This record gives sequence, C-alpha cells and structure tokens, in this order.
Amino acid sequence: MSADLHIHSTASDGTLTPAQIVRQANETGLSAISLTDHDTVDGVQPAIQAALKTDLEVIPGIELNTDLGDVEIHILGYYLEIRSKQLQNVLNELRHAREDRAQTMIKKLSAMGIFLSFDRLQEIAGFGTIGRPHIAQAMMEAGYVSSIREAFDNYLRFGKPAYVPRHKLDPFRAIEIVQNAAGIPVLAHPGLMNKDELIPEFVEKGILGIEVYYPQHTPDMIEKYCLVCEKYGLIKTGGTDCHGPGMDYPPLGTVTVTDETVAHLKRVHRRLQQNHQKKQES
Ligand code: AMP
Ligand code: FE
Ligand code: FE
Ligand code: ZN
Repeated sequence: MSADLHIHSTASDGTLTPAQIVRQANETGLSAISLTDHDTVDGVQPAIQAALKTDLEVIPGIELNTDLGDVEIHILGYYLEIRSKQLQNVLNELRHAREDRAQTMIKKLSAMGIFLSFDRLQEIAGFGTIGRPHIAQAMMEAGYVSSIREAFDNYLRFGKPAYVPRHKLDPFRAIEIVQNAAGIPVLAHPGLMNKDELIPEFVEKGILGIEVYYPQHTPDMIEKYCLVCEKYGLIKTGGTDCHGPGMDYPPLGTVTVTDETVAHLKRVHRRLQQNHQKKQES
C-alpha cells in the first residue's frame, strides 16, 4: 500500500473537490493521502469527513509558497493542527493578499482589453483561495485564450504583462508557521528550486523532511536527496502535486511513498504533539 503526499483540491487551485480526491484515492488503492493546498487547510476537514467510512487515511497538510531573494521555495507542512487560531490568522491574511492581487491583475488585464469580473473569479475559485489558475480559467471561458497554458504564457507568468507578484512569506517564517501549528515542515521538490546549498540552513531552521519523490525529479536527483536525508536524518516524502484533470500535473497516485514513510511521519507527529501540549501547559 502506498501514499500520495502532495495533492491540491478545489480549496486552492485543484480541479477536484476533497471528496472527489478521496474517492479517487480509494479507487486507486492508496492507503493514505495528504491534501497540500496552497496557503489553506480548508480542504482538510471535508476530506477527512469523506474518508470516514473508508480505510483511507487523510493527513492534514499545506503548501506554503515562499520567496527567498529571487528563489521560490515551497514548504510543505504535515499533520498540522488545522484549528490553531494562530494558523487561521496567518492564512486569512494570505487569503486577503491573494484577493487584492487578483483585483490588481483584473485591472492590468482590462487595460489590455480583457474584461473579467471579480465576482466571476470568486465563483470559479469556489470555496477556495483565488490563484492565477482561476484567472486563466476565467480568461478561457470568456474566449480570450484557448487554454490555461496560453493564459499563463501570454499574460500571467512572471515577466508577462498581467503578472503581479504575490505577497509571499519567507521560507523561515513558513517553517515557523508549520511548527507553531505542531506540524512537520518539509522542503518541497528541491529539484525545482536548484539551490541545494540552502538545505543545511533549512535543516538548522527546523525542516524535518525533504520531498524526494516528485514527478520532475530525475533518478539522479532522487539518489542525491536520499543521501541528503540520510546525512541529516530527514524523512523522505513524496507525491504527485496532482491538481486534478485539466491541469498540467500527473494523476493522483502516480508518485507515492510507502506506508513505512507514513508511519515515520506519524511517529514524528506524536512527538511534536506531545512537545506542543507541554509547551501550552507550561
Ligand atoms: P498563484 O499561487 O496564484 O501565483 O498561482 C500559482 C499556481 O499557478 C501554481 O500553483 C500552479 O498550479 C499554476 N501555474 C504556475 N505557472 C503555471 C504555468 N506556466 N502554466 C500553468 N499553470 C501554472
Ligand atoms: Fe498550484
Ligand atoms: Fe510546489
Ligand atoms: Zn503543489
């Protein structure tokens, strides 16, 4: 049995609802999944609910996109306490920053003769946080572009005319946010960031795992990151980064880790939970 620990739902920019993901995961025969939506944990409870009558384990998760200088670094958090007030406050701020940014992007697009309404964007995003993929979808549906990719390539990507940088956390703050919610901070897909020299500092700041198994990681990268994990005693996580049908990411369950890895995460989680409780009591 195996687990896919990197999945996006409609709570952020995925196209499947948490319940649909749970159903697919069960059909695929996975033993565990983690919902790792961008900047939100709103999909976690619905997924847990949908999995109640099944054997599937749903691990609470999140993916925080951060910037360090001009390098984009993604921090995953596993088994975080989703009801933490402090976590909710930070995530609310990020949600509002995303909404403001979407408004700015709408203005930029309108100057180019592309007219989108914020209400429609919110409808497309559903209960989720607004991201560029939703803007791309609104553009496609209004006939301005014929694909999500075209929207990104011509308008929304970094360097393109409608691009607006998003207020981002720095990775150390992201690690702290996960830690404060008693979660396990993990460095996401380091092969994409191409800055391995930063790994020792991340470890020092509290990273407990590296996402070793990832669709774009070559066998050489996997071997390299396995060695890094062994050197620092880190957990080797992995997953598809599945965003559902219609998005350029591989399907659910095509990159997985073993149940042993999930058990490892769970052991670390229990330890963190105990420390967290002690801290709150003292
Ligand atoms: P945002 O968080 O609003 O900046 O949007 C980032 C999301 O857009 C990523 O998580 C991807 O899902 C998606 N994305 C980023 N670049 C591209 C691209 N070139 N083509 C399609 N989707 C992309
Ligand atoms: Fe995404
Ligand atoms: Fe990522
Ligand atoms: Zn992701």
